[in-house]
Amino acid sequence: MSKYATHIPPSFSIRCHSCGELILPEPWTWKHSCGAPLDINVDVDFHRIRSCQQPDLKGLVRFAPVLPLTSLPDTAIGDTPRLTEEVDGVDVTFMLDYLNPSGSFKDRGAYVTAARCAEMGFDSIVVDSSGNAGVAIARMGLRLGINVDIFLPESTPDGKKLLMRLLGAHLHEVSGDRMKVHAAALAAAEDGAAYVGHWWNPYFLHGTKTMAYEAFEQMDGIDYAVAPVGAGTILLGLHKGFSELAAAHMLRMPKLVVAQASGFAPVCAELGITRPEAKQSTLADGIAIADPPRRAQIAAVVAETGGFGAIVDDEQIADALRWLVRRGIIVEPTSAVPFAAVCGAIRDGRIPSGSSVLVPLSGTGMKVLEELTEIATA
Ligand SMILES: [Zn+2]
Repeated sequence: MSKYATHIPPSFSIRCHSCGELILPEPWTWKHSCGAPLDINVDVDFHRIRSCQQPDLKGLVRFAPVLPLTSLPDTAIGDTPRLTEEVDGVDVTFMLDYLNPSGSFKDRGAYVTAARCAEMGFDSIVVDSSGNAGVAIARMGLRLGINVDIFLPESTPDGKKLLMRLLGAHLHEVSGDRMKVHAAALAAAEDGAAYVGHWWNPYFLHGTKTMAYEAFEQMDGIDYAVAPVGAGTILLGLHKGFSELAAAHMLRMPKLVVAQASGFAPVCAELGITRPEAKQSTLADGIAIADPPRRAQIAAVVAETGGFGAIVDDEQIADALRWLVRRGIIVEPTSAVPFAAVCGAIRDGRIPSGSSVLVPLSGTGMKVLEELTEIATA
């Protein structure tokens, strides 16, 4: 395994998002004792950010100067391609993050999480996931020689289960709702393993923040960044990355936009937006989360940037998905949610002509090819 060892790791602090108490980085902690999620702040400045731009390095390994890690395994994650399309006078730049090695942006968060667990000496990690996060963690465990136990709902699609097994993870199917799955994972982690569920785990967001760094390097100004929001790991990662860049006076903060699916829009509700008449989405399974732990935090950063929330229904998601597939962009239905939101916002003028918009495309359509074909050819 190659290690990026030519830099001094940044210092960082971990603080409770709610009560503000500082906690020590060791032992591994995924939630504050008061019940609230934790945030990690990395000491980053202009020089550290500039030193990430190294032509001889590719992928997350080059972000060593701004990540809360002391050693970075090279596992070919990140630096995904861009594709810009003009939509009614708006430049929409798609970040093709579904082209990461396990087929989703979750590889970024899994990378920082698993690398940190390896540094702390864990030989076993436990996660609860119904899909892409489990696959990404399984792959990182395989790469780093860490045992991975995944607790998942019985309803998890077979394609994703097969991938997790293929990547050497131990699967535990739990009957009952998502909270029962969570409880089973926590019980299993009591025996010396690290619990790394991405709804809570603060390291995950430092993996997803690299999306903001890459977009900053590749785009000539970003007016809006639109993310699909379930647990909010893309949106909060973008916010973290953009905030670090803005604090170093390298970027004007883009407006962040939350895109949620009808029936699963708690962050939009927090922002005062509802669509009670719309049917509950069945297409956006990747973000079908009724009560994400960081919902208030997500709503607060959206408001702080002057952004907004948008709720899209299955008809809009299917339209957006067909548009993407016709351009050779093979993503899962959940990944069409932010583009559906962008189309709506362009139509109603919330995103004006002449704007530059970042849309991360989160997950590959190849894990759900049958479903995708059915929608795209309807
Ligand atoms: Zn607290």
